[in-house]
Amino acid sequence: MTFLIDNIGELVTNIPGTGDGGLLGVRRKAAVLVEEGDIAWVGPSRYAPAADRRIDAQGGAVLPGFVDSHAHLVFAGDRATEFAARMAGEAYTGGGIRTTVAATRAASDDDLRDNVSRLRDEALRQGTTTIEIKSGYGLTVADEARSLRIATEFSTETTFLGAHVVPPEYADRADDYVGLVCGPMLRAARPYARWIDVFCEKGAFDADHARAILTVGKDAGLGVRVHANQLGPGEGVQLAVELGAASADHCTHLSREDIDALAGSHTVATLLPGAEFSTRSAYPEARRLLDAGATVALATDCNPGSSYTSSMPFCIALAVREMGMTPAEAVWAATAGGARALRRDDLGVIRPRARADIVVLDAPSHAHLAYRPGVPLVTKVLHNGVPQ
Ligand SMILES: [Zn+2]
Repeated sequence: MTFLIDNIGELVTNIPGTGDGGLLGVRRKAAVLVEEGDIAWVGPSRYAPAADRRIDAQGGAVLPGFVDSHAHLVFAGDRATEFAARMAGEAYTGGGIRTTVAATRAASDDDLRDNVSRLRDEALRQGTTTIEIKSGYGLTVADEARSLRIATEFSTETTFLGAHVVPPEYADRADDYVGLVCGPMLRAARPYARWIDVFCEKGAFDADHARAILTVGKDAGLGVRVHANQLGPGEGVQLAVELGAASADHCTHLSREDIDALAGSHTVATLLPGAEFSTRSAYPEARRLLDAGATVALATDCNPGSSYTSSMPFCIALAVREMGMTPAEAVWAATAGGARALRRDDLGVIRPRARADIVVLDAPSHAHLAYRPGVPLVTKVLHNGVPQ
C-alpha cells in the first residue's frame, strides 16, 4: 500500500538549509509518498508519483511526528492531591515518587499495561509517534524487570531507571541499594532495555553513585541518559558529558561550565518544561544553550508527579512563551532534537528512507503549535506509514 500526502500548506522536512533555507527546511507545494512504513519520495506535488491512496492535507502544515525522548509511563495511581497541595504552596521535593512506587508494586501486570497503553494512545493522538519509556517505579529486581518488559510492548526506546530514588526499605542504606541496581537489577533489566538513566540530584543519587551505576550499565551495552540539574546546581550535566551520554535531561540549573560542556559535546540538552509548569518552578534557559551551540530537545517527562502531560504541542508552546525559543527552534527540538537525543537518524525528519511518522495540522504553519496553545491542531497521524 502506498499513500501520497498532498495539498500540503507547508512541509517541515527538518533538513536545514533546504526549501526556504531555514532551520526546518520548509518546502512549499510539495508532496510526500509513503510506502511500506517508510518515506519513499519527497518532491514538488506536480511531479508526484501515483499511489494507492491519497491523503489530502487540506492546506495544513505537515511535520515529522513528535519524538518524545523522556517519559515515565509505567506506573499506577495518580497524584492529583499532591499537585493541588503544591499549587497551594507546598514545595516539590521528589519525595512523592515513593507514593507511586507503592501503587506500582501493588498493581497487576494488566493494570500497568493498560495505563501505558492509554497514555501511549493519548500521546499518539497528539502527534507523538515515538515515545521513550522508563522504568523507575518498581525499584525491586522483579518490579523493574516487569516494568521494562511491559514497556517493550509499546516502544523500542526503553530505559532502565532503577536509580530513580532509593526505595524506603533501603533508607539509610543507599550504598546497598546502588549495589543491587548495579548487580541483580541490571542483569534482570538488561534484556528489556536500550538505555540506562539515573536521577542525579540531592535527595536521589549523588554523582559518585550515578557514575558507578551508569558505568556498569554502559559496560553492559546500554546507552546512557541522565536526569541532571533539575532541582538545583549539581554534577549531573558534567557527568553526562564525561560518560558520552546521549542526553542530559532537565538542565534547569546550569552553570557557564555546564553550558560550555554541553555545547562542546554530542550530549543533547533535553528540556522538560512540563515539569517546571507543574512544579511552578523557573524554566531552563534554552536561549543560553542554543546561543552557545548546544543541541536542544524538548520532551514531556510524562509522569504522575511532576509533569502529567503527554502533549508535545503543549511543551512547544511553553518553550516558545517561557523559554525564549522561536517556534521553529521548538518544533525542531520536539522532532529532530528528540531523535538526536535517542541517537536515531531515521526519525524526526521527512526525507526518503526515514520512517513514515508524519503529522498533519489543521493550521497552515508549524508556528500555530505555539500561537494557538491548547488547541488540538493535530488532525492526522501516520505511524510507521499507517494512518491512525
Ligand atoms: Zn524524568
